[in-house]
Amino acid sequence: MRIIFIGAPGTGKGTQAQWITDKYNIPKISTGDILRNETLKKTELSKKIKKIISCGKLINDNIVIQLIRKRIKEKDCNQGFLLDGFPRTVNQANAIEKINVKIDCIIEFSLTEKLILERIRGRRIHIESGRIYHIIFNPPIVENKDNITGQPLIIRDDDKEEKIKKRIKEYKKFTIPLIKYYRHTAKLNNIKYYKIDASYTTLEIKKNIENIIKNNVLK
Ligand code: AMP
Repeated sequence: MRIIFIGAPGTGKGTQAQWITDKYNIPKISTGDILRNETLKKTELSKKIKKIISCGKLINDNIVIQLIRKRIKEKDCNQGFLLDGFPRTVNQANAIEKINVKIDCIIEFSLTEKLILERIRGRRIHIESGRIYHIIFNPPIVENKDNITGQPLIIRDDDKEEKIKKRIKEYKKFTIPLIKYYRHTAKLNNIKYYKIDASYTTLEIKKNIENIIKNNVLK
């Protein structure tokens, strides 16, 4: 089961990815999480990555492609994986095609900019695991603490309003062309493509995705 989630920041991809990992026993591979964990290191590269993320810009394709190539070779990916936030550019999509990684299904999350901003305002994350919370829609059991480790939750530096706007700009510039590309090529490559309305509740979207997987991916 190899699934790709595409969508602007704050559309709920990461939140949905969390239950998929548990239910289908496949890892969620989020390039955002991998890169954020890189920024915790003290190398020159990690400093550069931190700066770019903080500007709301995309990291160079080659860096991200290398990270993904390495990650999907790991043993836990044998039964498949869920890519959350990769690919984000046509170039990145071409890179996984080149190494013959066969994708079964792409799910696009669609949400208005107004709702994106509302959702991101309440977002909190546990940086090491990538677990995502929302102070109203998905609060942690203990305020501001991760449910599993009890460690503090943080507000992502790039979740500030002016940075989200930059990230949405990047999304329009690089990822909308990728969506167009997939709409053209998905059928030819036997990939199922779904666009979902991400304005529904977490539970409603979960049901929608469960049906998509049950009826189209697992068949
Ligand atoms: P995310 O957690 O998916 O919102 O990603 C956070 C940030 O990490 C993005 O704004 C980019 O700076 C960087 N990033 C994550 N995934 C990618 C990707 N596939 N290509 C380039 N940059 C990425």
